[in-house]
Amino acid sequence: MVYAVELREVSKRFGEVEAVHQVSLQIREGEFFSLLGPSGCGKTTTLRMIAGFERPDAGEILIRGQRMNEVPPFHRPVNTVFQHYALFPHMTVFENVAFGLEMKRLPREEIRRRVAEALRLVRLTGLENRYPRQLSGGQQQRVALARALVNRPAVLLLDEPLGALDLKLRKEMQLELKNLQHQVGITFIYVTHDQEEAMTMSDRIAVMNQGRVLQVGTPVEIYERPATRFVADFIGETNFLEGRLVAFEEGYARVEVEGFPLLAARPDGLFPGQSVTVAIRPERIHVSLEEPLAFPNRYPGQIEEVIYIGTDTLFRIRLNERLALRARMQNREGTAPLAGYAPGSAIWVAWIPESVRVLRE
Ligand code: ATP
Repeated sequence: MVYAVELREVSKRFGEVEAVHQVSLQIREGEFFSLLGPSGCGKTTTLRMIAGFERPDAGEILIRGQRMNEVPPFHRPVNTVFQHYALFPHMTVFENVAFGLEMKRLPREEIRRRVAEALRLVRLTGLENRYPRQLSGGQQQRVALARALVNRPAVLLLDEPLGALDLKLRKEMQLELKNLQHQVGITFIYVTHDQEEAMTMSDRIAVMNQGRVLQVGTPVEIYERPATRFVADFIGETNFLEGRLVAFEEGYARVEVEGFPLLAARPDGLFPGQSVTVAIRPERIHVSLEEPLAFPNRYPGQIEEVIYIGTDTLFRIRLNERLALRARMQNREGTAPLAGYAPGSAIWVAWIPESVRVLRE
């Protein structure tokens, strides 16, 4: 299979720092693919190597099956949109978007047609004659996008393009970008440290840390079946409990955590006797006043803390001196504030085995 972009064991050092370590990725044609990870994990360096701004020390970069290592940036079928989009301030919107095509000396009529199409895609039709200073931050970012799209690249590289926008606008632009990508069908590779942003927009996500790719998967796979503790922690909230894998029974794994027996979905590649980390998402923990007899995993506890955040109520619940859990309950009509769920209340926590993920220590 020919991929839009393929990285084969690509590494890059800056002096002592190994910015990218043996990264392999296979990005499909038409995919919205995100590189997600904390600051300094190597996302930008990976993107810059695809763009051609950095040269890998080892490994191979292919675009549509062609080796790119020796190809300069301007000969690669890619365009990059940065957070700081650097529009030409003395040029109008039209001139900014047309600039690249004029450099290529395309016929005037074709330039006009392609610029009009790009501006329509980013919903800026009618603003052709404005200057960047007469536009909002979101509009300026759309001009930068149009400027990249007008070249019809095979792959569009985006490095935190929404980073400078306020939260509300950023959320709007996330959906717009996703729709836009769908319409144009161009492969997008998107760098972000914001897990919600990556989840909202991506077909697949590569989670990176310390120069390595830890997991590649759809948002659902990454959230529901995180491969490592780092991934479970970085994407959403998780309770981590240290325990020991005791046995496999009837398709489940029996784990012991601080004296509590616990049934979990059966993990791959782990065996009875091993020390493990158990991960449970707060929203998968049911909190109730009555003992929930239908759940195999149910434990009495005491509420330590209640935080009402509108959509949900967050709890810290103590099971014994050494064990406390965070739980999150959705507030429905008539349930908030929750009567009976106050600090000090005796309650039950429960969860189904499928909600428990057993990870290597
Ligand atoms: P951020 O979100 O903060 O941009 P990132 O995940 O994109 O982080 P990179 O910018 O790729 O991470 O950096 C990875 C590592 O390489 C960091 O430790 C960084 O300091 C280092 N690094 C990146 N570029 C250079 C450079 N030109 N010279 C020296 N070190 C660099």
